[in-house]
Amino acid sequence: MKAMVLRAPSDLVLDEVARPQPAAGQVVVRITHSGVCGTDYKIFNGSIRVPYPLIPGHEMAGEIVATPEPLESLDMEPANPASSEPTAGSPPRNR
Ligand SMILES: [Zn+2]
Repeated sequence: MKAMVLRAPSDLVLDEVARPQPAAGQVVVRITHSGVCGTDYKIFNGSIRVPYPLIPGHEMAGEIVATPEPLESLDMEPANPASSEPTAGSPPRNR
């Protein structure tokens, strides 16, 4: 799949990346809407240090498209709307 990848400060490129596979308790969300905030800009320009490469962005909404368990067991339905909670912290990344 395609994603914007920050390879270093101010080095943002469109790249091909592996499609994420959800582990137990995780879901994959197809992003339909996103925001860019001051934190994103500071990450982009290197003011906030992050491990590279990084797919930036933490304010988003979309729909759940994959889960490791059947959706019924998670009490969800296909195309269930989802959004991020930026103040809740970031889950471990598998990149
Ligand atoms: Zn933010």
